[in-house]
Amino acid sequence: MSEKNKIIQIRITDINPDGNGVGRTDLGRVVFVPLTVPGDFCKVRIIKDNNNVLIGRPEQIIEPSPDRIVPECAVFNKCGGCSYGHISYEKEKQLKEETVRNAFKRIAGMEIKLNPLISVNSARYRNKVQYPVSTENGSLVFGYYARHSHRVVTHTSCLLQDDVFYNIAKDLVGIFNEMRFSSYDEESGKGLIRHIYLRKTRAGDVAVCVIINGDVLPGAESVSKKITEKHPQVKSFFVNVNKKHSNVILGEKNILISGQPFLTDMLCGKSFTLSPSSFFQVNSEAAEVLYNKAGEYAALAEGDILLDLYCGTGTIGLCIAGDSNPLCGVELVRDAVENAKKNAVINGRNPENTLFVCADAKDGIDECKKHIGKPNVIVVDPPRKGLDSSLIDEITKAAPERVVYISCNPATLARDAAIFCERGYVTIEATPVDLFPRTGHVETVCLLSKLNTEHHIEVDLELNELDLTSSESKATYEEIKDYVLKTTGLKVSSLYISQVKRKLGLEVGVCYNLPKSDNARVPECPAEKETAITAALKHFEMI
Ligand code: SAH
Repeated sequence: MSEKNKIIQIRITDINPDGNGVGRTDLGRVVFVPLTVPGDFCKVRIIKDNNNVLIGRPEQIIEPSPDRIVPECAVFNKCGGCSYGHISYEKEKQLKEETVRNAFKRIAGMEIKLNPLISVNSARYRNKVQYPVSTENGSLVFGYYARHSHRVVTHTSCLLQDDVFYNIAKDLVGIFNEMRFSSYDEESGKGLIRHIYLRKTRAGDVAVCVIINGDVLPGAESVSKKITEKHPQVKSFFVNVNKKHSNVILGEKNILISGQPFLTDMLCGKSFTLSPSSFFQVNSEAAEVLYNKAGEYAALAEGDILLDLYCGTGTIGLCIAGDSNPLCGVELVRDAVENAKKNAVINGRNPENTLFVCADAKDGIDECKKHIGKPNVIVVDPPRKGLDSSLIDEITKAAPERVVYISCNPATLARDAAIFCERGYVTIEATPVDLFPRTGHVETVCLLSKLNTEHHIEVDLELNELDLTSSESKATYEEIKDYVLKTTGLKVSSLYISQVKRKLGLEVGVCYNLPKSDNARVPECPAEKETAITAALKHFEMI
């Protein structure tokens, strides 16, 4: 029977990345309750029962959690930006750490060494904003989308970013209203102004980009002149053409109306030129910490070759590779690759041992091998969906000593780490870094190391020979090994013999190959040795 409209009292015990508190009914059903905090005891009205989960609306907080705070933002309840605005930042950090730990535990079945989350700031940290523009009472307005909706919520000051963004956008929209521009309507596909995209460097320079559903912004030069006069920190003014009926924000074509074709920002003491379409981490201070950790995990020795997959403008490779480390960066967005090439030059990289290519990550290893050499360390920093398992195959076949995996999605990171571990790597440790304070997102950097079967596997090869059945006792493991060595020159282990026997349906001793360490992976018998062992078993008439 549906639980809809029932009123229940529950304790909130958890929170999901959307910021919804999670509790359970007396019968154990999961209830998501927006705007609640782990620890709250509350009266909740069930507003949706969709079989899997219940959605509730808090009617009364009977006993507030000690981690509950009064949100500082006036539109916290309406805007979809901050999930944790009603929770103390101390608690948020703990929750994010748990999110990463739980992802590894639940998705990958791994207890990993997880370092404490690193946080360097919690407000006014964003260097980029993309305001959707819509129409309200006949005038254009801008703001953020409400959660799970494309309804624009207007606001004045957003605590995640510098007010300069709001001030520039307000003046731009004022100009658009004077010029009687229309806003883009997603339903009909009509209307001109889609988004206002602003990016700021640490030095305070701003790039403005107006995203339009059309080929030209009428009077673009005059708009750019007015806004630059009012806000002299605006160093570039672009129009981006996006006529696609989709919710992808940027279109493919950027038209420079005035100013510089790119901004230049600093990270880890290096300079980076950025075009509007190029990815750049939104929290520069936290990104530096992330990259330093990635550098520590990469542990590049003199001459080690570094492959930076999903390299954007080349930031990670250029920040962590030393002069002696050949560097190859691979990225799909052409403008970002052009930025990366320029960034290599301005940061004094030797062109002989540096290559940035515009290619799909899946072709990156071949490019690196062909032009730079076989990589010793590979850094991957994919979008939220993580890596294709075929790419993980390519990477593990290339057998770098270490893989440094940077991820903005703990679930896909955990899934992929499990695949790496199946293919001969171990997860050494991971460190969450809070690149997106007050929001439901968290970044993690994870070190995977190639398992050196000679050194790292601790496998108990001692067989309990007393467990052997009479058919098996025809030849001992030592006799099989000797036979294989004599006839083929191959050395085989008891583990491999037991694997082949098991495959052929012969019983093997119960304690034949249990790893001593939790991290140990059991290697598989190579085909050549399998053939040799099978021949030995035939020789001893065991099969
Ligand atoms: N490492 C960079 C960028 C990370 S964001 C930094 O820290 O700044 C992920 C990047 O992957 C984006 O630049 C995106 O354009 C790129 N990308 C997405 N899919 C890709 C693919 N299939 N192959 C190569 N690059 C891809």
